[in-house]
Amino acid sequence: SIPLGYFGGIGAASRHGILFKGSNYLDLIAKVETVVMDKTGTLTEGVFNVQKVNSNGYDEKEFIKMLGALESKSTHPIANAIADYSKNGVEQLAITNVEELAGLGLKGEWQGKQLLAGNSKLMDRFDIIYNSDLKGIAETTVMMAVDGKFAGYVLIADQVKPDAKEAIEELHINGVRQTVLLSGDKTSITHKVARFLGIDQAFGDLLPEHKVKKLEEIKKGKPGVVAFVGDGINDAPVLALADVGIAMGALGSDAAIETADVVIQTDQPSKIATAIKIGRATKTVVW
Ligand code: ADP
Ligand code: MG
Repeated sequence: SIPLGYFGGIGAASRHGILFKGSNYLDLIAKVETVVMDKTGTLTEGVFNVQKVNSNGYDEKEFIKMLGALESKSTHPIANAIADYSKNGVEQLAITNVEELAGLGLKGEWQGKQLLAGNSKLMDRFDIIYNSDLKGIAETTVMMAVDGKFAGYVLIADQVKPDAKEAIEELHINGVRQTVLLSGDKTSITHKVARFLGIDQAFGDLLPEHKVKKLEEIKKGKPGVVAFVGDGINDAPVLALADVGIAMGALGSDAAIETADVVIQTDQPSKIATAIKIGRATKTVVW
């Protein structure tokens, strides 16, 4: 391929929708040996659909009304899916004292009752008793509790992006020794997605601070230059810790785009390998 100077490299990248925040990152990305990635919104669409509702003794409409009203207070992709689903001709309930608990879900109040919506870790934190079979289900589960009692759950599903499999192949072909998937989603789903995509290692059920710890661990294991790729929701600290922080732009949060060293503006994970290849082509002419 044709060697590029720094300006050529930055220009070639921008034509692919890849923004380098400095020519030093062209050098660094050329040496990347380990690529750590977020799942939701990075390798999957991050657009969820409600598949099933189980309202556990509650009237289903009433259940969805409460859950949807609470989730409408959050901008998380999971929350958007449930809020949209619940809006079919239903009036909105007045929810107060809403708190978003990162990596867990939401807490709020309605007519003096405490509402919780989120994953099993949220239920465990509030000592809610639920059927532990729900942990094994291969879909993302959002459980709800009303006044300390389990009230039911919905199953929601997301889809792998069309170029995700090719994106991982391209990384391995282009000299990346190790690929790793980190997610706040269930371990079972995280492993399934990693296996499907050909990712070497996967860790699920991670709270945002656990993603930072995991990356610290990875960095201790002589991984070479490490890139982290995330869509941004809760990812800024991990982006900052990586040698090269890469944000997937179009759905990414402002905090992630600010913290990142490289921004992929097109939502295509295949652009990670493109960025590495441009870095290598650029390096050729300089040294
Ligand atoms: P990821 O690492 O996959 O991007 P997050 O850290 O954003 O995931 O979220 C991790 C988990 O926390 C989700 O899979 C979900 O179980 C739970 N969660 C987060 N926000 C919400 C919400 N608004 N409603 C329900 N569950 C939520
Ligand atoms: Mg995410």
